[in-house]
Amino acid sequence: MIHEIFPVGVLQCNCSVVGDEQTREAMVIDPGDEIDHILQIVEKHALKVTQIVITHAHIDHVGGAMKLRQVTGAPILLNQNDYALLKMLDVQAAWLGMPTPGAVTIDNSVSTGDKITAGNIVADVLHTPGHSEGSICLYFAPEKKLIAGDTLFAGSIGRTDLPGGSYQKIMRSLQGPVLALSDDTVVVPGHGPLTTIGEERRNNPFLTTR
Ligand SMILES: [Zn+2]
Repeated sequence: MIHEIFPVGVLQCNCSVVGDEQTREAMVIDPGDEIDHILQIVEKHALKVTQIVITHAHIDHVGGAMKLRQVTGAPILLNQNDYALLKMLDVQAAWLGMPTPGAVTIDNSVSTGDKITAGNIVADVLHTPGHSEGSICLYFAPEKKLIAGDTLFAGSIGRTDLPGGSYQKIMRSLQGPVLALSDDTVVVPGHGPLTTIGEERRNNPFLTTR
């Protein structure tokens, strides 16, 4: 599996390009900004983007989705519980003093039980509300890799004080499907360095105190 992780935009959201070495099909996760940079990485590996996946509808994760869709023709996937947040992109842009990216339209809602594929690569969707109502994580079982969006960070968890946020729900999501994963699962958070489930289970202050 080809997997490139690189920060995009002023808030340095971790964008992932995940590609199948055989079929060259790929999914792009959280194309928040810098679409030209994302396309360079796609071209470097001679990939064809077939899925655009958004972990949640905050502007730094979804801002470039329409531009990427225009270039690639790939559908945009987001959990429907974040559609309200998606309609607030201009408000989110104003909070950050950023230009509005314009309206983003979603092709399909994805939730727990759904599988997103690109060639032979399969990601299981985990609906993990808390940072937002529609936050999802993507779990690549053969690779033992979790793309966590803003649900889990190295040493911290997603903020819950924004619209749609809930501390109770994020704790339920973390202590449910997220910590159900094995300790050697590599975690790719929405911002900052990579970590593992074991490291966070042992040392993340939000997960060690009950
Ligand atoms: Zn966020």
